Amino acid sequence: MGRIVHVNGDFLPEEEARIPIFDRGFLFADAVYEVTSVLRGRLVDWPGHVARLKRSLAELAIPMPRSEAELLAIHRELIDRNRLGEGVVYMQVTRGVADRDFAWEAGMTPGLVLFTQARPLIDNPAAARGLRVALMPDLRWARRDIKTVQLLYPAIAKMRARERGCDDAWLVEDGLVTEGTSNNAWIITRGGEIVTRDLSSAILHGVTRAAILNIAAALGLKATERPFTPEEARDAAEAFTTSASGFVMPVIEIEGTPVGDGRPGPVTQRLRAEYIQRALESLT
Ligand code: PLP
Repeated sequence: MGRIVHVNGDFLPEEEARIPIFDRGFLFADAVYEVTSVLRGRLVDWPGHVARLKRSLAELAIPMPRSEAELLAIHRELIDRNRLGEGVVYMQVTRGVADRDFAWEAGMTPGLVLFTQARPLIDNPAAARGLRVALMPDLRWARRDIKTVQLLYPAIAKMRARERGCDDAWLVEDGLVTEGTSNNAWIITRGGEIVTRDLSSAILHGVTRAAILNIAAALGLKATERPFTPEEARDAAEAFTTSASGFVMPVIEIEGTPVGDGRPGPVTQRLRAEYIQRALESLT
């Protein structure tokens, strides 16, 4: 693939990049991450991503590996070195390296890894087609507000969804939808109310979710933050997901039931277009 990646201060070819086997990110998933989109070679919603990184790190008592300005400079250099026009930058911060022990020592030096992935985000074919979503129990840990790299259950849920002919899974806990495997879940009721689950430790506090709530308010659309049931979702006029790399993705089917007329909905498409336009106007 020939990318240049960043590991602990060094920019080097991906084949030469190494992390120590005693890194706690590898042994304990003791690490957090951010995925920031790139359009026209610049970052989408950098302030939102760096703010959430700081929050995730603080919740786990991992220090910032570099200043905000240095992290931004590393992102920019990686984009330049890889001539990335459109795609994502993945950044992971681990607690660091120590002999294997559940308990960790104070004062460890955090590890830092970044790499790019080039892919079309605006002309994403899935956005035109819409997603088929399966429903699965939410078996993740209870601190989903921290963006950790413990992603085994979401990966399994996505694989099971694929086996069932779906694109993704929405996760359900106590009879309510929490979120998607790697995105926030939204419905638009037949009454025109835009609904997404309220913030708590049950879901990741999506950067794109926050942007869409702002856009809905700016457009005078009624948006409510509250939980919804799978039944309400299957009866909705429209449904969609939000994530940094997917922006706004229409959901056209939930557990075999078409949503609305089974095609990407007009409000969803409007929100996607507005999101992209505003993102292009505020790149970092
Ligand atoms: N929920 C989960 C579980 C996620 O993994 C993600 C993104 O990776 C999101 C929601 C969406 O968050 P954001 O819009 O910040 O990408």
